[in-house]
Amino acid sequence: MAAYPARKVTFDLHAHSTASDGLLTPAALVARAAAHGVDVLALTDHDDTAGIAEAASAARAASITLVPGVEVSATWERHTVHVVGLHVDGADPALAAGLAQVRAGRQARARRIAEALAQVGIRGAYEGAMAFAGGDHLVSRAHFARYLVAQGRAKSAVDVFRRYLVPGKPGYVAHDWAPLAEAITWIRAAGGQAVLAHPGRYAVTPTGMRRLLASFRDAGGDALEVVSGAHTRAECETFAGYARSFGLLASTGSDFHGPEESPHELGSLPAALPGTTPVWSRW
Ligand code: AMP
Ligand code: MN
Ligand code: MN
Ligand code: MN
Repeated sequence: MAAYPARKVTFDLHAHSTASDGLLTPAALVARAAAHGVDVLALTDHDDTAGIAEAASAARAASITLVPGVEVSATWERHTVHVVGLHVDGADPALAAGLAQVRAGRQARARRIAEALAQVGIRGAYEGAMAFAGGDHLVSRAHFARYLVAQGRAKSAVDVFRRYLVPGKPGYVAHDWAPLAEAITWIRAAGGQAVLAHPGRYAVTPTGMRRLLASFRDAGGDALEVVSGAHTRAECETFAGYARSFGLLASTGSDFHGPEESPHELGSLPAALPGTTPVWSRW
């Protein structure tokens, strides 16, 4: 029996690197997490596990724990939802094939976004976004946003999204991602826990949220991202309640993308809310 309570452990289980649309390389992200007191960091790039090997070796050097993760883009009833996978084996064939398919869809969508932007007089957006994506890396709307800011079309990424890249705006195109149940299946096949990311971001009614959570749980989902950089404090409390009533574990993650773009620093959010069972209680 320990004579003193264990030192508080800082978890941040949602973060991006240059392997998707983050601004820091996997090694730089891990170094920054360590410098900010993170003990356990999950690298959760969109639809790609390419950054994990570099992050894992940087984590060994920094003596912190790296959780290999991914954030899978999925579609549920015409809504885009994101499913974080924690402790996934990136070499698992079902996960790797699924992610390759989603990335191919991203590439096709990027062409359509560029065509839509060309309609309003913005030329070269495909090449511009790909340059920000860094060649063979995955392309996201965040790369289009950085290109449009560089072109002087808007003053910040947030401003670009508001004016160009969200539903109803000229550069938005609808897209079918992985069906939600498939995304969950890939993550679980790869040995991971499936976490519904930033639930407060989805434009659904309370009834719709309950149906989404029921679908997620019935398809094998494990946890809800109760504490998120995308949530207000009140939303964290709301989703703690949902986690309890749906029997889901609770996760926490900043969704950090980079020092200039993210409002919440790595490791700056509270770990677990009272009455929830943390996702790491099963590790
Ligand atoms: P995608 O998965 O390609 O549709 O792009 C989604 C990504 O765009 C998110 O992961 C964020 O990195 C970024 N993003 C989405 N909405 C906003 C916003 N309002 N302001 C800034 N970045 C955003
Ligand atoms: Mn992103
Ligand atoms: Mn997301
Ligand atoms: Mn994310």
